[in-house]
Amino acid sequence: SKRWGKAKAILKEFEEKCATPTLKLKQVADAMTVEMHAGLASEGGSKLKMLISFVDNLPTGNEEGLYYSLDLGGTNFRVLRVQLGGKDGVVNTEFTEVSIPANLMVGTSNELFDYIASELAKFVKEENEDYKVPPGRKRELGFTFSFPVMQTSISSGNLIRWTKGFNIDDAVGQDVVAELRSAIERQGLDMHITALVNDTVGTLAGGRHKNKDVVAAVILGTGTNAAYVESAQAIPKWHGDLPKSREMVINMEWGNFRSSHLPLTEYDYALDAESLNPGEQIFEKIISGMYLGEIVRRVLYKMAEEALIFGETVPPKLKVPSILRTPDMSAMHHDSSADLNVVKSKLKDIFEISDTSLQVRKVVVELCNIVATRGARLSAAGIFGILKKLGRDTTSGSEGQKSVIAMDGGLYEHYTEYSKCLENTLTELVGEDVSGSIAVEHSNDGSGIGAALLAASHSHYL
Ligand code: ADP
Ligand code: MG
Repeated sequence: SKRWGKAKAILKEFEEKCATPTLKLKQVADAMTVEMHAGLASEGGSKLKMLISFVDNLPTGNEEGLYYSLDLGGTNFRVLRVQLGGKDGVVNTEFTEVSIPANLMVGTSNELFDYIASELAKFVKEENEDYKVPPGRKRELGFTFSFPVMQTSISSGNLIRWTKGFNIDDAVGQDVVAELRSAIERQGLDMHITALVNDTVGTLAGGRHKNKDVVAAVILGTGTNAAYVESAQAIPKWHGDLPKSREMVINMEWGNFRSSHLPLTEYDYALDAESLNPGEQIFEKIISGMYLGEIVRRVLYKMAEEALIFGETVPPKLKVPSILRTPDMSAMHHDSSADLNVVKSKLKDIFEISDTSLQVRKVVVELCNIVATRGARLSAAGIFGILKKLGRDTTSGSEGQKSVIAMDGGLYEHYTEYSKCLENTLTELVGEDVSGSIAVEHSNDGSGIGAALLAASHSHYL
């Protein structure tokens, strides 16, 4: 029919605009390395902030004692209690996870930090006899804060801007450690904030603790970001002393990467324009969990409106922004039943669309596949860019050298089609010869443990 032809035409055009052939990915990777250089050269030299983390030593494995970490960065926040046993590694962990009420994501700084500190205080109260800080010492905390921060030391830094649906004006420009410290004091809790780290830096530290070959960390969750170990001499904008290790961990803030080589569609432009941060975080908006489902919804809406794939009237729920969450998209994408029952029930539950034909459900799966594939392949291109910057994209490096990327985040962890595609694409980009020396490794809650490890290695009492 004519409608069906129109639907197919919309799908085909979208697929073409989202295409990521190898050559394009290599251009994206090259653009990434160019921007990395520019961001390291001068402050504000690139869309990539290439933030100096003040972490010049990754965990050695000798870290010991009781540490807490607190992870704020997206939909949930986690509090972790970690007993580090030196050579015995991580001997005990306990954690709690709480979702952040939506109103607090767009309220005031005090409201957000008071909420976090009160949950932290509750958790600390439940500490049992197995966990003890030595007498005369305060408990110490590693604070994982996954938004762009201009650090002024390992334990202080000013918020540059919010991302991922947070928008709290009075916190921008403030020292987030000072904000948390005040809130902790208001709770009457006696705790020292020892390290402020991005989740990528925490994941890198946690990953390195387990595997010496870890050179970079990538988060694919609500948002996306990467960190890696850079040679201090390769950071022209660093005017401090050369660290003993001669290394410095760089928080790339790669979510804000942008390049003319990125395959962007009309749906991406519209999503961006209607977002809380238009013009920013363009890479993030096409590869991370907060946005993938929403892109699919936008294309479906267009098909409903112009090709009437759901009948004469556009189902009202299809107009609601962000109503299709990425976990639901992923469930539809992974639907292996012959008549696509999962897709059928998701369309009914989320959009109140019943009686869909198999043909329509197949289009939905195809859309999920296009959006996830583009995201996964571009993430792989970003990783390839980092490997190139490190000179680890060829076999000409030292013999037997391994490069491991520590990965974490709900998207990577749960969206199997996405992570499979990412790994295959990385192999495609580095080539058969080199692919044996490169691995991606899931670092399960590496960032929480990593922040605790960094609190230990930067302890107030050392
Ligand atoms: P955050 O990034 O908020 O710190 P996570 O790393 O746990 O937290 O990632 C959560 C995000 O991961 C969700 O917002 C969602 O986009 C994505 N996600 C979670 N579960 C799934 C799933 N089953 N399939 C696809 N994406 C998922
Ligand atoms: Mg996180």
